[in-house]
Amino acid sequence: MKPPLKPSIPTTGRRKRKIVVIMGATGAGKSRLSIDLATRFFKNSEIINSDKMQVYTGLDITTNKITMQERFNVPHHLLGVIDPTKAVFAPSDYRKLASDIISEVVSRNGLPLIVGGSNSLIYSLVTKRFDPDLDVFNRPDPDPNPVSVSSELCYDCCFIWVDVRLPVLNRYLTKRVDEMLDSGMFEELVEFFWTGEHKKVNRSGLGQAIGIPEFEAYFEKFSGFPRLEDASSKEMYNEAVRWIKENTCQLAKKQVSKIVRLRDAGWELKRLDATEAFRAVVTPEYREGTMAEIWDKHVVEPSVKIINQFLDE
Ligand code: ATP
Repeated sequence: MKPPLKPSIPTTGRRKRKIVVIMGATGAGKSRLSIDLATRFFKNSEIINSDKMQVYTGLDITTNKITMQERFNVPHHLLGVIDPTKAVFAPSDYRKLASDIISEVVSRNGLPLIVGGSNSLIYSLVTKRFDPDLDVFNRPDPDPNPVSVSSELCYDCCFIWVDVRLPVLNRYLTKRVDEMLDSGMFEELVEFFWTGEHKKVNRSGLGQAIGIPEFEAYFEKFSGFPRLEDASSKEMYNEAVRWIKENTCQLAKKQVSKIVRLRDAGWELKRLDATEAFRAVVTPEYREGTMAEIWDKHVVEPSVKIINQFLDE
């Protein structure tokens, strides 16, 4: 017997625009993947940031923005462009700005890559009926009015979820905080506090970036690096760093649980497991070459296949 015919796709309206969305927890390698794809395989790509802290100007190291050098001339949008002293950049603002950018990218035959860890921004952009007054992710517990996640989308989306198992990701994130401090995060925060910037930025926006609340008490007492002879400054500094590490790991865990909610609601996410590549990074005898090989095999190559298939559909 012949299988029943698939119901035909409704022909009303235009074809939905195709976009690629690279999701994942903080630190999982979304930026690296987007640059690999844009420089080696899909050279017409333009990246649209979907990290709600990285949209703001300033604190580039603290919010871990990709550097100019790491961008390899790939166009980046909504990265470091919003004034942090003004109103909070809301998901509804993102929906408007990012959809205008997608139209522009598509009009020049580009491929929009949405890249970032803030699922509320991704949700606001791709859902058909977005309600700006309803935060579907951050709900009270217990929730008196449980809300469901919508799976009706206004774009034709290829969702790539770069996932790293949390025990391995946490080890990497702990190491990454130390690297961020080595590359100038603390000096950036010293300037931020001592020029009075911290009083000017919106406390519900950039003022919440991990690193600011954690160092606030320290900067109320001290003006720079802890001095060797001052044990209490050293103790407070270490405490702030411990807290940053802890909050970064918590952020990653929360982001993964939001992604799982989207998947459970029927979003077709293609999960790629980058755990082995990260395991290589956190081992003491780490060699960049080993990581790069595993990364290509487990993450880049499958992504290229998935995206090619999606573009051919
Ligand atoms: P959303 O819930 O809107 O999808 P999210 O998962 O990126 O966003 P939240 O759960 O709102 O983030 O954030 C938890 C904490 O992490 C907040 O204090 C937030 O400001 C901070 N945070 C998020 N992204 C960054 C970043 N790139 N740099 C520093 N702090 C960040």
